[in-house]
Amino acid sequence: MTVFRELNTPLRTIMTPGPVEVDPRVLRAMSTPILGQFDPAFTQIMNETMEMLRQVFQTKNQWTFPIDGTSRSGIEAVLTSILAPGDKVLIPIFGRFGHLLTEIAERNGAEIHTIETEWGQVFDQDEIIKAMERVKPKVLAIVHGETSTGCMQPLDKLGKACREMDILCVVDAVATIAGTEVKVDEWQLDAVIGGTQKCFSVPSGMAPITYNERVEKLLASRKKVERGVRTTGDAVDVRNPIQSNYFDLSQLQDYWGPRRLNHHTEATSMLYALREGARIVLEEGLEERFSRHRLHEKAIMEGIKAMGLTLFNDVTWKLPMVTCVNIPEGIDGEAIRSMLLGQFGIEIASSFGPLHGKIWRIGAMGYSCRKENVFAVLSALEAALIRNGASVQRGEALQAALNVYDPASRMAVMM
Ligand SMILES: *Cc1c(COP(=O)(O)O)cnc(C)c1O
Repeated sequence: MTVFRELNTPLRTIMTPGPVEVDPRVLRAMSTPILGQFDPAFTQIMNETMEMLRQVFQTKNQWTFPIDGTSRSGIEAVLTSILAPGDKVLIPIFGRFGHLLTEIAERNGAEIHTIETEWGQVFDQDEIIKAMERVKPKVLAIVHGETSTGCMQPLDKLGKACREMDILCVVDAVATIAGTEVKVDEWQLDAVIGGTQKCFSVPSGMAPITYNERVEKLLASRKKVERGVRTTGDAVDVRNPIQSNYFDLSQLQDYWGPRRLNHHTEATSMLYALREGARIVLEEGLEERFSRHRLHEKAIMEGIKAMGLTLFNDVTWKLPMVTCVNIPEGIDGEAIRSMLLGQFGIEIASSFGPLHGKIWRIGAMGYSCRKENVFAVLSALEAALIRNGASVQRGEALQAALNVYDPASRMAVMM
């Protein structure tokens, strides 16, 4: 008989676009005792989590709560609850996750309209607005931070334009939430989906979402309460009911709201994790957190360039938490990645589709976004490249990163 040993996970430095390292305080919170889901001690944790998530999303939306499942469960909950068969949706695609929005909307029977741009580019917002005028969709669904290409789509004009044309604006901010500005109310975004395992630095398994009254009104028109928990006053004959039970936001609202109507069993330990993760985000401060991501991004970019490598992205629309590096001619990108992991315990990412084998993606998100991790990834990458016969500027990367962190020490060296 096989005897399985106690779980013994290796310690890693994770510099990918997720999942990333988790603050030890979050892991500790996960090991605290289970509470029943209607225990007032637990419903208080639910309410506190909602309040903290509102602050992270920079919104006053009452409906701000996590969906149990990975980030795409949040996307699926929002799109499935909004879209009825035949509804028109417009999706601008600039990477893998735009295709994911299309995939989910398609399965809801929506009429899909897409505009596409090359991977590595973003859209001019006016181009999207023109497409909205032409298609007249019910929903615009768009990615904010496209982790597959390291690009960030400007959104500040889209929400307002959607409101003027009576379109609902749905945004995948999975990669950007808690790492850079996602101003839900100021940008007039109607529904926004965040992620936990990226800049939030909580394990994968929940998706915080937020949506406003425009969405709430639409949900109310499709609302059908489950037979076993229905009471008088709940609609029975509903046109176009929401097709999923698990992802039915109208029922989830009753679970997260004062009615406390039983739906699924809340994922207890994950909620502890999210609550502690959100608390840590707010304790650091949003502005401070965003500028920390910018600082380490700069150190990574300067280090990469000083080594003699080139960046894939145009800096004007670069996603701060993901730096894409062109794999040098003649170098096997996967050999370098496996050396980083095997010898140094450091993980970086490859990419998908047209960019597979062409770029590496170095993430610096949440708790992984630290100075020692930046030094570790730069020095190990340099060593692995030298080992694989690439010609790099030896020793320059860490000096360039140090110049970012400690410009005064550079003066001392020069004098
Ligand atoms: C990571 C990511 C997702 C998918 O997240 P899962 O947690 O794997 O479901 C969706 N959208 C974007 C932009 C992402 O970066």
